[in-house]
Amino acid sequence: MKNYYPTIGLEIHAELKTLTKMFCSCKNDPDEEKPNVNICPVCMAHPGALPVPNKKAIENVIKIGLAVDGNIADFSEFDRKNYFYPDIPKGYQISQYKYPIVSGGHLAGMDITRIHLEEDTANNKHDRGDFSLIDFNRAGVPLMELVTEPHTFESAEETAKTAINFAKEYQLLLQYLGVSEANMEKGEMRVEANISVSEDPKNFGTKVEVKNLNSFRSVERAIKYELDRMIKLIEEGKGSEIVQETRGWNEGKGTTFSQRKKEGSADYRYFPDPDLPKMKLHEAFDLNKIKKELPELPEARRKFFLSKNVPSQVIEIWISDRRVADWAKNTLKYGSEPEWSTMVNFITNDLVALANSNLMDKVFGKTNIDSIYKLSKMYIEKTLSSRAAKDILVVMFETGEEPEKIAREKNLLQKNDEEALKVIAQKVIDANEKTVADYKSGKENAIMSLVGQMMKETKGSANPQIAKSSILSILKQEK
Ligand code: ADP
Ligand code: ZN
Ligand code: MG
Repeated sequence: MKNYYPTIGLEIHAELKTLTKMFCSCKNDPDEEKPNVNICPVCMAHPGALPVPNKKAIENVIKIGLAVDGNIADFSEFDRKNYFYPDIPKGYQISQYKYPIVSGGHLAGMDITRIHLEEDTANNKHDRGDFSLIDFNRAGVPLMELVTEPHTFESAEETAKTAINFAKEYQLLLQYLGVSEANMEKGEMRVEANISVSEDPKNFGTKVEVKNLNSFRSVERAIKYELDRMIKLIEEGKGSEIVQETRGWNEGKGTTFSQRKKEGSADYRYFPDPDLPKMKLHEAFDLNKIKKELPELPEARRKFFLSKNVPSQVIEIWISDRRVADWAKNTLKYGSEPEWSTMVNFITNDLVALANSNLMDKVFGKTNIDSIYKLSKMYIEKTLSSRAAKDILVVMFETGEEPEKIAREKNLLQKNDEEALKVIAQKVIDANEKTVADYKSGKENAIMSLVGQMMKETKGSANPQIAKSSILSILKQEK
């Protein structure tokens, strides 16, 4: 069989989570369920209404550009992309064409071509009968588009893997920067895959663009399906049937289908929007300051955890939620080697197990990172046994109460006071003559039974090591 070289380029749209929309002061609220409440003459395209750019949205794109080592344009502007569709009431979408905010950059092994800013469309609802309804709440929400360079690989697996990796890393980056929730199921992040196959690694084949990919899994399936389809056509001598077009993805059937022949950019008759000002970004923004204030990004976090010898599967679990990664980092900074390796287990097994489904929303529903951090600190300082820490964690998730308070109320603070524990040890020794005799006659294991009695006596709050050593020291004196 011949070699085929798949090529992929991604276009990823992400809604920015600004307070207001891109060109008007309507609320940007993706959770609004009532249709057509966050609307005004600007985002409804009433004649004469004038757009005003949202500076925060532009700053967010700059942040991402800096985070991926891209170039921030000095000069930038908005263009009109003309087309007719019910969800675009002006008859054009405000977008960027010649002068995107960001050019170049790279992430997760792929080169980025550009990142630009545009406005989202309204939502069409076709599921109500013989008619369609339009909800304009989303019309005019800041929408950022990232375009990657085309990359050629040796296999479909490698192509899909690289694409998914990129999309996941980009999603993480947006979440770490706090600029977008980038939830794919909610349509806050939408991936389009441009795919082609060639028999010659130096020349690209004809590409198709696959849309409607609502999960990482569908991105992977669609890429593999489409490459398969193209290779089959080529093998059957029907390579000319591969045409440049937009294809949809049918999740149920697991197939792509032709939607429309691709428009060229000329069809959109782009031109600079005369209602919007030209932008001098290097003057309008303090790029050095924005760069300095970027939070620690996922890649740097990974390096930190690796330097602490955290296993990489564990790192990926932590990294997947910035709040957990923050907590884990604070905790590891705090403890020294033996303690934080216990913490690794604690965080991973208990926290993650508790929160298995829909991970962190559940975890952080009632409690917050600082409280969980306080809990882990109490555990590291040995004021809590691991059992107690786990029990308290459950209560924290349920009630949102602070760990100290729960520990006090449930009498779970670990007793580290040697004098106090010695008194209890004496009491246990006096009350268990037979076990003591067993121990003295050489049954070493009997000591554990005595420690058990001490734990019972203190309702599990004794530090087991200190309990054991106090019993041993009394028994030694008795000998
Ligand atoms: P268009 O003008 O059709 O929008 P662009 O050149 O702007 O095409 O590229 C759009 C996306 O398609 C980019 O992500 C780019 O990397 C990707 N791309 C371009 N050519 C190919 C190809 N032959 N195979 C796969 N992807 C491609
Ligand atoms: Zn509006
Ligand atoms: Mg293009």
